[in-house]
Amino acid sequence: MIYQGRFAPSPTGPLHLGSLVTAVGSFLQARQQNGKWYVRIEDIDTPRVVIGAAQAILSTLSRFGMPWDGEVLFQSQRISAYQDILADFQAKQLVYPCTCSRKQIAGKIYHGHCRQRVLKDEKRYAWRVRTDVNPLSFEDEIQGKFSGCLETEVGDFIIKRSDGLFAYQLVVVADDARQNITHIARGADLLDTTLRQIYLQQLLNCPTPNYTHFPVILNEYAHKLSKQTFAPPIDHLPPVPLLVQVFSLLGQAIPPELTQVNLQTFWDWAIQHWDIQKVPKVPSIQINTDVTLGTAPII
Ligand code: GLU
Ligand code: ZN
Repeated sequence: MIYQGRFAPSPTGPLHLGSLVTAVGSFLQARQQNGKWYVRIEDIDTPRVVIGAAQAILSTLSRFGMPWDGEVLFQSQRISAYQDILADFQAKQLVYPCTCSRKQIAGKIYHGHCRQRVLKDEKRYAWRVRTDVNPLSFEDEIQGKFSGCLETEVGDFIIKRSDGLFAYQLVVVADDARQNITHIARGADLLDTTLRQIYLQQLLNCPTPNYTHFPVILNEYAHKLSKQTFAPPIDHLPPVPLLVQVFSLLGQAIPPELTQVNLQTFWDWAIQHWDIQKVPKVPSIQINTDVTLGTAPII
């Protein structure tokens, strides 16, 4: 089997335990299949990009003994490819400009309000793709079967934002196709975006990859670890003990002496013993970050 996997972090801050879990899971899946593991820096959402974060993520991956294949792809270098896709969709009338504000839509399903609209002299508008009622589905390697109907459950969705930036849904599909990704292994917070991506793959005549969504890590307050929830940094921690923790969060049993070995021995063992079937089949796992990261105060 050809296996082309990837890890696609957004450079909004350094890696934290949650993103490390995804990186490790996708790395192990790829390496166990003798596949490729690419890294793509998703720096399309420029207002959220933190200077230096991409480099920090890449050096943490290196320090943790996770070398990637080929060149790192940066989304900021791919704008003209995204533009070409938009132009193609425009020519085929698969998209339309939308001037509705976020407030007007207020979190509701977008029922195609601007589908027939002809632009006058509006300057700010997003581009939405027309959805339809055909049912879509996929079988996730961990989370099971998902299906849905975009038009009624999601609505026409944005592929280029009114601030001029291309939306995640479009760029992720364009880049996975460009990198010939056959297996997408990422966090379960993206599960409910997958049908939109499958829909775009169909519009672009691209194959749909196989999907694996790992549980996301929640902190003691049940918030997803992220920069916004002050996820503790991990880049200063010794790699092997932390990787052992990640391995066990992913449901894998580990002999206690493995904490004492060097990085190479850890990875050799982990790649050989990794068993995707043991990963908890849940969308999230709650932990106490102080305990897991070994920073709990000693009383
Ligand atoms: N850049 C996204 C994130 O950091 C991941 C996108 C993906 O794996 O499809 O959450
Ligand atoms: Zn609209």
